[in-house]
Amino acid sequence: MPDLPNDPQPYIETYYRDTLNSDHQREALSETVETEICVIGGGLAGLSTAIGLVEKGKKVILIEANRIGWGASGRNGGYIAKGYSQGYKQIAKQVGLEHTKQLHKLSTHGRALIKDRIKKYNIDCGPIKNGVLGVSWNNHPDKVKSYIDWMQKELDAPLEYWPTEKVREHCKTEQYFAGFYSPEDYQFHPLNYVHGLAKEIENQGGKIHENTKAINIVDRTDGGYNVKTPNGAIKCDQVVLCCSIYVDDLNKKLKYAAFPVYTFVMVTKPIPQERLDAALNTEYCIFDNRYAQDYYRRLPDNRILWGGRVSLSGAPKNLAEIMVKDLLKVYPQLEGVVESEYAWGGSLCYAPHKMPQIGQLKPGYWYNTCFGGHGLVPTSVGGDVVSSAIADGDERYKLFEPFSKLNFAGGALSPYIAQSVYYLWRARDLLISLNK
Ligand SMILES: Cc1cc2nc3c(=O)[nH]c(=O)nc-3n(C[C@H](O)[C@H](O)[C@H](O)COP(=O)(O)OP(=O)(O)OC[C@H]3O[C@@H](n4cnc5c(N)ncnc54)[C@H](O)[C@@H]3O)c2cc1C
Repeated sequence: MPDLPNDPQPYIETYYRDTLNSDHQREALSETVETEICVIGGGLAGLSTAIGLVEKGKKVILIEANRIGWGASGRNGGYIAKGYSQGYKQIAKQVGLEHTKQLHKLSTHGRALIKDRIKKYNIDCGPIKNGVLGVSWNNHPDKVKSYIDWMQKELDAPLEYWPTEKVREHCKTEQYFAGFYSPEDYQFHPLNYVHGLAKEIENQGGKIHENTKAINIVDRTDGGYNVKTPNGAIKCDQVVLCCSIYVDDLNKKLKYAAFPVYTFVMVTKPIPQERLDAALNTEYCIFDNRYAQDYYRRLPDNRILWGGRVSLSGAPKNLAEIMVKDLLKVYPQLEGVVESEYAWGGSLCYAPHKMPQIGQLKPGYWYNTCFGGHGLVPTSVGGDVVSSAIADGDERYKLFEPFSKLNFAGGALSPYIAQSVYYLWRARDLLISLNK
């Protein structure tokens, strides 16, 4: 499990860190304070919960062990897409179609909520561009059509079928075949969104302390909880854990119900415009349909942000080189003009069912975690349902009950299981490639 470092950490080197609009750092907590709700973890799960709470008039203190958005929330691909890490068809198998429709409704609401807040609070986290294109690595248009039909019929999702020729007008590569276009999904700059949200939480009376790790949580005899930090404490009525895979011994049940997956992003140096247009001739977000997929998009200054791969033990030494090779496999015409400027990794938190874990361990002790590799919309959903439950007694969070039993996820063996699953995915991808 990735442990939180003992000492507070600065942001790692990423494109997002270096294009942050303004890096305002908050002071660590150094006294004992009281509040209604203490949110632990300053990723998008924590920040979305905190903004939901202050919007509903609640008193909130959020603490973050490092910097806000230090974890996955400040390092991701920036795709804001409906759905969850688990696919809808699989969810429907587990909880039935009607339940899946409710989860989908939450997801489209969570996606819209991000855009609404960007607008309402004037958060400068663009470019915000609509459009995500899923492409096939193999030539089976019927499968694409049948997926679109299901999504349209059962979930009313406005997906468009794109034949191979249309896909290749945008992505000039012979690797790809027919795909689907999702017009309502979009992209943003995640770390600028994190900072915009934090500023608004404070504007509305919430407090944020960075470099403040929750060390333990103790039940108070008079009700509520005491959250201890290295140099202070927070007396609160309710607590919300949004610690992702770093939860560690703060809560052992959460720790053992999840396993980590490391995944990677590379950002190229700017590429000459004509050369880029002759390869990736689109500003949509792209992903392919392999289990171990590539996903990527153009950045405003003619760079490509390229994501993919997973690993057991953090980033390989030659990460940048590996990612550039992956890119050139799809766009060989960019040979000679693609150079990596940034390459980084981040830790994802997965439960075996690949769905978020959202619920209450005991009255007033909430968890909102396990968003996996498709977490930007789900963290918005989690923040919405948990803050509404606390503030208004809303019960929509119970839609996640079937996934929130906190079963043992493999403990120390879990990363090895994750890596084996990844190798299995790659083997299946090879079969897909051979079957083109
Ligand atoms: C490389 C990469 C690419 C991705 N691409 C996408 C994408 O394009 N689209 C998408 O939807 N999703 C994507 N994801 C997934 C998405 O980023 C995550 O699912 C989401 O950000 C998880 O948010 P979180 O708040 O749960 O976790 P995190 O962002 O990891 O935040 C958890 C925070 O809690 C803090 N913390 C933990 N323990 C304590 C403690 N005891 N006290 C105080 N603070 C604590 C940590 O320091 C950390 O900052 C990607 C992830 C990665 C790593």
